[in-house]
Amino acid sequence: RAKAAGGNRYELADADSDARAIARHDLTNCLPAALDNGEFFIEYQPLVRLHDGTVRGAEALVRWLHPVHGVLGPDQFIPLAESTGLIVPLGRWVLQEAARQARAWRAEGTCEGPMRVNVNLSPSQLRHPSLVADTVAVLDSSGLDPSALCLEVTENALIGADEEELRPLRQLADLGVDIALDDFGTGYSNLSYLRRLPVSTLKLDRSFTRGMQCAPADPVDVKIVEGIVSLAHTLDLSVTVEGVETGTQAEHLRILGCDTAQGWYYARPGPPERLHTLSLVDAAS
Ligand code: C2E
Ligand code: MG
Ligand code: MG
Ligand code: MG
Repeated sequence: RAKAAGGNRYELADADSDARAIARHDLTNCLPAALDNGEFFIEYQPLVRLHDGTVRGAEALVRWLHPVHGVLGPDQFIPLAESTGLIVPLGRWVLQEAARQARAWRAEGTCEGPMRVNVNLSPSQLRHPSLVADTVAVLDSSGLDPSALCLEVTENALIGADEEELRPLRQLADLGVDIALDDFGTGYSNLSYLRRLPVSTLKLDRSFTRGMQCAPADPVDVKIVEGIVSLAHTLDLSVTVEGVETGTQAEHLRILGCDTAQGWYYARPGPPERLHTLSLVDAAS
């Protein structure tokens, strides 16, 4: 899937064919030791403000450097970690590491304005009783401001959640942590439900922006995005678009009023040092 571009050291293998080639139980068995052995690492993909092209933060995306199979993408092991419960300590590690990195970026003045970091939460992390305490502990130990952290949860993970189940997220939002609804538009939640969720950002799924890769843009996709942006802004939510692969797409999405973009057009996920060169490029252009 991810073809090597500008200085990438490897290619993430195709999730489907690889999942077949590598036995599930094999991967599942070595997951716990992999965490102890430090085989996981994080790549960061910049989030760019559409109105001026500056970097506002980055999403942390976990990878596994498997001693035999090489670099595995999250689609190949997150579901296994989720079903075995290892996702909780793994997710805690990702959060800790990403917060430390974001704090370092801030100290180095890596981007214009306060640098922020986005971290994905899986459904079992959301339901885990220590989510709030773990997050507060990470913020305390890293010294990261809560407003510099965005937790991404998928629409599907929240469908049907009642007030009680939403309370941890609400507590985090009250602390100033940004909550984003990831892969928005792929689930089946009704839109009025949005009002009840403690979210501040919608991350519009890639499937909605594909029709804007070339000019003229697909008129139906344009109408859909227009509608979502208008709804989001009415509810005081910001809109991030994922999967922006071309300049044409970025321009369409900017005109449609989307706030932030992420995708290969700007940068593939990469090592944390890459954020420096990117901000410099942005500042220079
Ligand atoms: P996601 O959160 O929706 O992340 C965006 C995915 O889109 C990433 O795939 C990213 O590499 C890919 N992407 C970015 N720009 C483009 C583009 O322009 N075109 C295309 N075609 N793809 C693009 P990745 O890294 O394979 O991650 C897949 C999913 O794994 C993530 O989807 C997220 O749901 C999950 N994930 C990643 N890291 C973590 C983690 O630390 N914890 C948990 N629980 N889940 C994670
Ligand atoms: Mg995400
Ligand atoms: Mg997403
Ligand atoms: Mg997605």
